[in-house]
Amino acid sequence: MAKRFIAGAVCPACQQRDTLALWRENNIDVVECVKCGHQMREADKQNQKSVREKEQVIGIFHPE
Ligand SMILES: [Zn+2]
Repeated sequence: MAKRFIAGAVCPACQQRDTLALWRENNIDVVECVKCGHQMREADKQNQKSVREKEQVIGIFHPE
């Protein structure tokens, strides 16, 4: 599986630059820091987005 590095990207876990490798696994984009092993997946990002949408719905909901 071909991995490519993301130029200029900073790992959110160890703050190192140019350590994030990107590849595709089961149609999911996987990003891994080769320095500390921190891993992020496209599926995780989608989960975070749906949480944010729910927060917005809660924000405009008026119970009175
Ligand atoms: Zn890292």
